Amino acid sequence: MNQRILFLGPPGAGKGTQAERLAASRNLLHLSTGELLRAEVAAGSALGDEAEAVMARGELVSDSLVLAIVRARLACCSGGWLLDGFPRNLAQAKALQQLLEEIGQPIELVVLLALDDETLVQRLLSRGRADDNEVVIRNRLIVYRDQTEPLIAFYSAQGLLTSVAASGTVEAIAERISAVVG
Ligand code: AMP
Repeated sequence: MNQRILFLGPPGAGKGTQAERLAASRNLLHLSTGELLRAEVAAGSALGDEAEAVMARGELVSDSLVLAIVRARLACCSGGWLLDGFPRNLAQAKALQQLLEEIGQPIELVVLLALDDETLVQRLLSRGRADDNEVVIRNRLIVYRDQTEPLIAFYSAQGLLTSVAASGTVEAIAERISAVVG
């Protein structure tokens, strides 16, 4: 069974929902940079203030800020974990790799949740989060294609990537993920 897992995929593919379920059932630390950033915004911290406008536009928050959040949480724990929404670009992926080497906890599996753009947009529109209006959604998809999608090749080349169809019910997708995680 894989204990150190990364979820990759476009916004709206269901990473958060599926990560929460998998982490709960396998007792993994669930680390969602989006959730952590929203908590900072809600708390009105300096970090949250810095991130808020960037998130509202659907752009990526600075690598150094996100890395600081992740580093603090991963370094503390020796158990299994599931990263969701991080890394989002090659610089973050390389920094993560270095951090994981330092702490001797390499990634065991990258699960790509794959879904077509129109279904993604429909799902995001029905979700109703602050950054879920159509203009921002389209921008988040562009940012994903430009900056995050190159990670598919990066992790494929390391033999870590498995793709799962993210269509259908939450239950059906969860079963497909469970099958590849082992
Ligand atoms: P998410 O909940 O993963 O959809 O993330 C919501 C927003 O938080 C994104 O649109 C970004 O503005 C920001 N964000 C989340 N994770 C990252 C990350 N790893 N790097 C940069 N920005 C991020």
